Amino acid sequence: MRRPNQVHLCGWPGCRRPVPLEMWGCRAHWFTLPDAIRDDVLRGWRFGRGRLSPEWIAANDRALEWIKGIPERAKDSRTDTPVPGTGGSNADSDPSGG
Ligand SMILES: [Zn+2]
Repeated sequence: MRRPNQVHLCGWPGCRRPVPLEMWGCRAHWFTLPDAIRDDVLRGWRFGRGRLSPEWIAANDRALEWIKGIPERAKDSRTDTPVPGTGGSNADSDPSGG
């Protein structure tokens, strides 16, 4: 079980988490990106044969632009706000009153 020693920092601005070279960033941040951006990055990876290829860099630029565009409150996950639409199949109709 050999693990590659080479890592780089997560592609998300400000995130210092080391991730394997074949990954754009840490899981949490990677899955924060929209599908279209992720698709671009993956395509750039394959098409340009790896990280830091022109194709990959172009896709990475798109990701960074997208990140800059999201509101600050969405980037800051200190507040523990409940997210609507989480997994769960409980009927939310509770007949109460009286
Ligand atoms: Zn990260």
